[in-house]
Amino acid sequence: MKRVVILGAGESGAGAAVLAKEKGFDVFVSDMGQIKPEYRALLDQNGISWEDSQHTEALILNADEIIKSPGIPDTAPIIQRLQAQNTPIISEIEFAARYTTAKMICITGSNGKTTTTSLIYDMLRRAGLDVGLAGNIGNSLALQVAHEDHQYYVIELSSFQLDNMYQFKADIAILLNITPDHLDRYNFEMQNYINAKLRITRNQTAEDAFIYWSEDPIIDREIARIRPQATLYPFGSETHNVAYTDSRNLIIAARKDVQPLQVPLDELSLKGKHNCLNSMAASIAAQILNIRNETIRESLTQFAGVEHRLQYVATVRGVKFINDSKATNVNSCWYALESMTTPTVLILGGKDKGNDYSEIDDLVREKCHTLVFMGLHNEKLREHFSSFGLRIIDTDNLQDAVVGAYEAAHDGDTVLPSPCCASFDLFSSYEDRGDKFMAAVRNL
Ligand code: ADP
Repeated sequence: MKRVVILGAGESGAGAAVLAKEKGFDVFVSDMGQIKPEYRALLDQNGISWEDSQHTEALILNADEIIKSPGIPDTAPIIQRLQAQNTPIISEIEFAARYTTAKMICITGSNGKTTTTSLIYDMLRRAGLDVGLAGNIGNSLALQVAHEDHQYYVIELSSFQLDNMYQFKADIAILLNITPDHLDRYNFEMQNYINAKLRITRNQTAEDAFIYWSEDPIIDREIARIRPQATLYPFGSETHNVAYTDSRNLIIAARKDVQPLQVPLDELSLKGKHNCLNSMAASIAAQILNIRNETIRESLTQFAGVEHRLQYVATVRGVKFINDSKATNVNSCWYALESMTTPTVLILGGKDKGNDYSEIDDLVREKCHTLVFMGLHNEKLREHFSSFGLRIIDTDNLQDAVVGAYEAAHDGDTVLPSPCCASFDLFSSYEDRGDKFMAAVRNL
């Protein structure tokens, strides 16, 4: 019997284990950390053997195939051992896709993945299609394939998932943008990260669709280099794109046999330039899937948005608080600042991922009068921003950051935590950071 070992038992690993067991493999799960009680229960219910807080090499190195959690870096000793002996290492998505014939709509990019994935899912649901949401959000693809397979999946793919995908093919692939992120996991080589993102086009043929932002300089350059086989669907501000904007409307013309869809920009439910791009990408995918323009319009104008992404929290004595905790890199903060229409107090800091803050210099100068640093290591922020002549409030906890920001803000200003950094120095996740921020605001 073929032995499949799953490393990392989070949502994707536990789901992969259940599917592998159902398909008759000899399955073992190993996690260096503690497995959450709900996943332990799932493994036990399915009669799957597991260990946590350790990797027992004798039980792992004898695997025919490894399914690796995207969170485990290639530098982990166990991965190095497996690579040295040429054991195939795949991702949960690669594994699960072997057992379904569903159409795969896959979204990647440095920023906007969750928003675009959720919007496409909303469009497909409104159209009455049998669709599952998977990847970085929702239940794992593997668990859905095992228990409630669908005809369509909308899958958010991180570069880490793409790293271990080989035979998988996206019927519709979307690449939103490529800006520096996670460089600590890519040997601080931008091209390694770019190559991971481009894997979304792997195995695609002319029957498949590749939707991408044509004005992203890196994507533009890389498309000329790798020449994807898929049919290309560029979007951007210029009219030569399949989706574009004029001064007042979003226009989507992905199909020659269907009237272009026009939606007034001020009716889009997701605000800001970046969300306009996300809306274009999602609408092209929906048109390719033959969803009626009216349904797409309904979704674009009614979609409720996703938590922790430029989420309105409250206005306290004239000061507006927005939660953008999900801005875990510099580029997403750029878009958040770009969409600000009032003077802004920006809260930033956390676990730096090799950030270059100069990308936001101009917008910080233009929009912010106060910067609040919130992190255990603010040295790099201090060094970068101290010469700007702005007020700086240096804190190492959320409560001081929120109170300091509130005191510095004037009537009509916005307080925006869009931290450019991961949250793990002070919080368990960006959701935890966003939730605690919102709670602190409500206590003001
Ligand atoms: P991801 O899932 O890729 O991390 P999200 O949809 O969760 O992206 O959005 C994260 C943050 O990135 C948002 O708070 C917003 O500020 C910014 N953002 C969203 N869409 C885009 C985009 N198309 N380009 C640049 N930044 C974006």
